[in-house]
Amino acid sequence: MTYHRLTVKLIAAFAAAVIIPGIVLGIIATRALRHEEAYLENLLEDTLRVEVDQAVDLIRNEIKSMGDRLAQGLSLPGEEGNDAVFKAWKKDSDLVEVPFLVSRENRIIWPKDGKGTSSGDDDFLADNRDLLSDKRTGQSFQNAALLPESDGADRDEIGADGSGRSVREEKYLDLKKALSQPRLKEKLAVAKFRGSPEARSKLYQQTESQNQEVLERNVITRQQAASGSVRDRTILVAQDLNFSRSTAGVDHGFIPRLTGSKLEIFFWKKIPPEGEIAGCLVNLKAFTGKILSVLPIPYSATRLMTVLNQNGSPLIDPLDEGTGREWKRPFVSREIGELLPRWEVAAYLSDPAALASRARLQSLIMGVLIAILLIAILLGGFLIFRSVNQEILLARQKTTFAANVSHELKTPLTSIRLFAEILEKGKQPDREKQKHYLKLMVSESKRLSRLINTVLDFSQIEEGEKTYHKQIIELTDVVRRATENLKVPLEQRGFTIRTKGIDATVPVLGDPEALEQVLINLLSNAEKYSGKKKEIEIAVSVKDDRAIITVSDRGIGIPKGTAKKIFNKFYRVDDHFTTRVKGTGLGLTIARAIMREHGGEVVYQPREGGGSCFSITIPIV
Ligand code: ADP
Repeated sequence: MTYHRLTVKLIAAFAAAVIIPGIVLGIIATRALRHEEAYLENLLEDTLRVEVDQAVDLIRNEIKSMGDRLAQGLSLPGEEGNDAVFKAWKKDSDLVEVPFLVSRENRIIWPKDGKGTSSGDDDFLADNRDLLSDKRTGQSFQNAALLPESDGADRDEIGADGSGRSVREEKYLDLKKALSQPRLKEKLAVAKFRGSPEARSKLYQQTESQNQEVLERNVITRQQAASGSVRDRTILVAQDLNFSRSTAGVDHGFIPRLTGSKLEIFFWKKIPPEGEIAGCLVNLKAFTGKILSVLPIPYSATRLMTVLNQNGSPLIDPLDEGTGREWKRPFVSREIGELLPRWEVAAYLSDPAALASRARLQSLIMGVLIAILLIAILLGGFLIFRSVNQEILLARQKTTFAANVSHELKTPLTSIRLFAEILEKGKQPDREKQKHYLKLMVSESKRLSRLINTVLDFSQIEEGEKTYHKQIIELTDVVRRATENLKVPLEQRGFTIRTKGIDATVPVLGDPEALEQVLINLLSNAEKYSGKKKEIEIAVSVKDDRAIITVSDRGIGIPKGTAKKIFNKFYRVDDHFTTRVKGTGLGLTIARAIMREHGGEVVYQPREGGGSCFSITIPIV
């Protein structure tokens, strides 16, 4: 019972300390491994995002300084006349393609209509006359993140203040105000806007309800492709504004015009004191050249970086690999902003397969390590479990052993005392019976000393102190002696003993007493574990320089699975204290130790037709 409880406790401890943590560790580890690729991608994405953000910043700064340089290079009104000034300006900057000058009343002063101007000027006028003279509106772009969050009430208020300015204009002026704030504020607003899908969809709804257009981005980013979501909208809100409104508020700037897939960029500058507006159509080639010159190194071992134009085509192909790459599927991409609508700085993995294979390799290494760790934990735990269990079992067996030995000592002692008392008091006058009692007393005391010898032998064998007096002896003599010794008590208990081959000559090198002890152990087991058929057979044979003695019975036999254990110390198949047959669990342990000491062995085989068969082998001299 105690043993059972201890084992249950041990199993619970083993489960709590090894199996459960092992399984949890395994689950966590496999989950972590599955996310390894995603984790690596996220890590790389974060790094590339910083790089792309920096590139966008650099480009925006470059556009700003291009504007500043163009404004500085234009010195109107010039004494030499507009022609000379514009020529000098054009010479000064390759960004200037077609210069223009518009009066405060929206009259186009330059280029002069059809009077000695170049065909480029004519085309320019044909395309832009209405726009510059405020006769038609053009799309103007604003960063949606920088639009103030307004609701209907605000708009009504603005509309009702009698200023006559429209809601749109009010917003536009607010934007100008926002732009004049420190750059950080702007960046924070953009980051906040990007990070909040709710804010985005709210603003897009709001702008659409005001007939403002929100453009779609050209690219589908990795996350969108993975989540199967639709193409993102740009951060830009387009609204139709006329030229004079587009140029309100600041003294110079760029105006992009996106018509279909074509982009035109205008530079403009207010000329004091009259407030005319001078400017130019910007040479796009020169403009993009300058933008690209500030881009970080476009190719590295991990990533490619390029700028995508309004149609999603790269301005440069860093690897010059042709059209193979899916340019609209970047790893990380960011819009440049309102000055270049739909343009993006995009980064791609140089070798997308490398990331996956690296993740796989890392997963594999981690997986193997985790597996080794788990196996070590489980194996270590199992070994500890087993040895503790064995110790518990042994402790229990020792207790049973002590009880059994006491019982074993008591039984012969009681019968010796009983017969001695009968004889002493002269209660049995029959001489024959007296003789029989004496015989029984002798055999009982032999049993007693056998038992004591067994315990002593065991402790000597355990300590390695057992000595053997080996000599060349006749094995069949030993067999005969052992049989003779047990014949009387066995026959008294109804056993028949058959012997086979005991007349042969089988010389062996051995300790006769030890070998006899082995045989007596086997014979007394055959008696103890007998069934209804009380037959014991001892046979001696020779095979390949080895003598074999078999002791066979028709007893209860040994259950399958315990055949190996019966040779373990203290092991008994039926170990209950209440069991009818008492024993120490040491007989076979000692027998095996003795036989191995003689270069031989004891093995058990189930006997055909029922019962057990123990075979002893020993080399013949
Ligand atoms: P014990 O003192 O218990 O007999 P042993 O070491 O001699 O110790 O035997 C170990 C166990 O092997 C026994 O308890 C018994 O269950 C089993 N055993 C040994 N010999 C026989 C046999 N001839 N028939 C059936 N079982 C046997």
